[in-house]
Order: sequence, then structure tokens, then C-alpha cells
Amino acid sequence: MSQQTSNVTFHERVEDALRDQILHVALERTTERFQRLRVTGMGSLPNADAVRDRVRLIRAHTLSRLDAYLEQFAANVERAGGHVHFAADANALNRIVADIARTHDVKSVVKGKSMISEEAELNHALEAQGVRVVETDLGEYIIQLAGERPSHILAPAIHKTKEQVGQLFHEKLGVPVYTEPAEMTAAARAILRFEFLNADMGVSGVNFGVAATGTICLVENEGNGRLTTTAPRVHVALMGLERIVPTLDDLSVMLQVLARSATGQKSAVYTNLITGPRRNGEGDGPDELHIILLDNGRSRVLGTEFAEILYCIRCGACLNACPVYREIGGHAYGSVYPGPVGAVLTPALGGIAPWSDLPQASSLCGMCREACPARIDIPRMLLLERDAATRAGQMPWWLRFGLHAYSVAATRPALFGLAAWGARVGTRILGASNQGWIRALPPPLNAWTQSRDFPAFANESFRAQWEKYQGENQEQKRK
Ligand code: SF4
Repeated sequence: MSQQTSNVTFHERVEDALRDQILHVALERTTERFQRLRVTGMGSLPNADAVRDRVRLIRAHTLSRLDAYLEQFAANVERAGGHVHFAADANALNRIVADIARTHDVKSVVKGKSMISEEAELNHALEAQGVRVVETDLGEYIIQLAGERPSHILAPAIHKTKEQVGQLFHEKLGVPVYTEPAEMTAAARAILRFEFLNADMGVSGVNFGVAATGTICLVENEGNGRLTTTAPRVHVALMGLERIVPTLDDLSVMLQVLARSATGQKSAVYTNLITGPRRNGEGDGPDELHIILLDNGRSRVLGTEFAEILYCIRCGACLNACPVYREIGGHAYGSVYPGPVGAVLTPALGGIAPWSDLPQASSLCGMCREACPARIDIPRMLLLERDAATRAGQMPWWLRFGLHAYSVAATRPALFGLAAWGARVGTRILGASNQGWIRALPPPLNAWTQSRDFPAFANESFRAQWEKYQGENQEQKRK
């Protein structure tokens, strides 16, 4: 797994994000709206809880027999006239796509939305061999024009305001400074229509692969996925090897929650089911279909205590629900997969050492687990990863020191009482001028107050309040 800005630390990226007022406006506008839409969308699903249980069961069952389902899927794709390739890692995937491009003398590629291509950094690999790649999902197109990386697994340009996009289109496409999203979409559509019709190869993601039929399912709202997969003469579909479902019935269960969890829609505008390339007598579709299944650490995660993260159907709901993501956005994570799912998946696939900060990017409030249509217990795995980081010696010295000091005090009641008294008095003095809220703590505690206030401790400790409460309670009972 690659990192976007390897020379900048996680904390520096977070500080930059917290200072970025435009980012806050963009995140607030969109995550809040997605959250509301998800609640309404799931509310429109009869027996939503039972459907979520079913989603979880199907994902667990599929992963428990993944090798058999992958074999069945591959056999059925081949039977329908497609080709299946297994890629052990990102380099292997890039080599396979590059070989297909070379074989077919491909000069230009249109690309639908695909997190796997981000994971493998496919665009760089193709561009290095002289192939022009054009993103066709509107969000991805914006990001490509801006020379940036996606900051959300579903809405790649979520960190940009419409005003920024209007200015970007003006600078890069030479169009007037549009203020309405519809005008910007029309400008992008005019350019992309030409690209679709002239591309030699289409590269798309895959939401699900159906083992029983060899069908791939792509869910989208813009129609660009349909054009990417049918207009060019070669279609290359990229999927993580965990994205299998056994049957079309199982697929229908996934589809009941995917769009609802993502955008609140009962169903996405386009649900494309593709089984093999164009057959004799059919008017549309590619001459060849290649499906590449990427491992890149996934098979290593299977059977571990992190396997549950592979249940993910990439709806993005946990990102929109996460109070940390909503403050810092996706780029601060530095990984291809941001937010709660990324904080678990990235270290699970790429090892804890380079990603030991990500599990700390959580308040453990559990909102991600509540929002997840597969009921993935993300907080449980975040705690396991924090433990793994500690065992790997990745915990910062100040945290190690702090926890050690706490464990010394917490096992000595007199010392604990003294420390609590000191904290009470100290924080009340510091917060006296601001109604009990401290604007700036002294170093090394000032990191907390760089972005929020700290409340002064209560006048009485919890233990003192509890003793008083019990005393009053008993007094009342006696009366
Ligand atoms: S972890 Fe759950 S909520 Fe988050 S993207 Fe995956 S399926 Fe959606």
C-alpha cells in the first residue's frame, strides 16, 4: 500500500487539515448530507436490521470458502468468453494491464471509478509506457485535473467546494467560471463523450463478482461506467479478490444496502451486470473482457482477527459517520483507503509499522459500526491494531510514558487521589478566566488545545460524588 506524502508525518497532515477552513466547509456540506440521506435511505428498507444481518452472513460465508468461490467465478467468466488473471500484488496487476494494452496497441484509456487502480497506482504505470489515461467519473475527473488523490472512497472530490471546482475547470479546460454543478457537469460531459468514443481500452472497478454466473456488477450514478465498459474494444475490470458473492440472489441482498448506505438512494441510477464480452450478433460491448483479481495482502488477512474488514462493500458510510474523518478529511490519513475502514484495512494489508498512526485516528465512538451495512466491528479492530503498534514498539515515547505513569498512579490510591487533586486545582486555575474551559494547556499537553478547548476537572472527584450520592440514597431509604 502506497502513501501519498511519505515525507510528511500523519500529525503534520492532520494539522494542515485542521487549519484548512475551505476543507471544513466542503466536508461539512457533504458528510452531513450523506449521513442524513443514509438514515432516510435505510429507513425506507423494510426489515433493515434483518437485511444487514443477512449481508454480514453472506460476506462471512463467502470469505470462509473464498478459494472455492473464486475458482467457480473464474471458470464461469472463462465459459462466458472472458479472461481471468490473478495478481499477487500491485506490480503484478500493473504488469498484466500493461501487457494487455501492449498486445492491443492501446494508446488511450478511459477509466471508470476503481479503488483498486488507486491501490496499484495504475495510471502512473500506464502513463509510463505512453498510454493516455482519462478518468471519467466526475469526481475522479476533477481530482485528475487538480493532480490530486481521492479523499473519499465514494466521493473522491469531497474535499473540494463547488467554487473551487468552477475555478479549476476555468483554469484547466478554458471554460467560463461556472457556479452551478450542472454547468460544470455539462462541460465535463462534452469532453468525456469524445474520449469514450476514441478510447482503445476501458478500465473499470467491480462492486461484486458473482461466482455462480461469472457476472460482474458495477454500480454507478453517471453512466460513465456503462460507457467505459462497452464503448472501447477492450474492457479490463479490476477487483479485490474478496469482492465475490456466491449467487445473483446474494447480489440482490448487497444491492439493497449498498446505494442506501452510500447516498441514501434505494438503488443506484445504473446497476450494470456484465457476463463476458460482446457475443455474436450483439451491437454493443467490447471484443475482449479481462478481469483482474488483486490479492495484495488480502489472502494474508483471511483467517486473522482482521478478516472481518474484508466484509466491506465500500459504501463509504463509515467515513461520513466518523467524527475524525469529518474534521480532517481523507488526505490526512495518507493512505488510499481513508476513514475508519482505511484505518483498519491499510495496516492490515500493508503492515502496522508504516501505518501505526492510523488506528489512533479514532475516538472509538462506534459510529462507524452503527453505520456499516455489514455491521463490521471496526472499533474492535482499531484496538487490536493499537495493541499491535505498541507491541511493535511504534507507540510514541510520550504516550508510553503517560500510560506508564497512569498505571503507576492507578494502582496506588493515595497517589491517584493526590494526582487527581492536582489536576482539579490546576485545571480550575487555568480555566478560571474562560468559564471552566482551558484555551491553552502547558507543554507537553498543549497538542490537545491546539485545535480544541479542554474542560476543567469537576470540583469533586467521581469517587467523592458517588460516596455522597450513596450516602444520600441510604438516608432517603431510612426515611
Ligand atoms: S466498513 Fe462498512 S460502512 Fe465502511 S465502507 Fe465498508 S461496508 Fe461501508
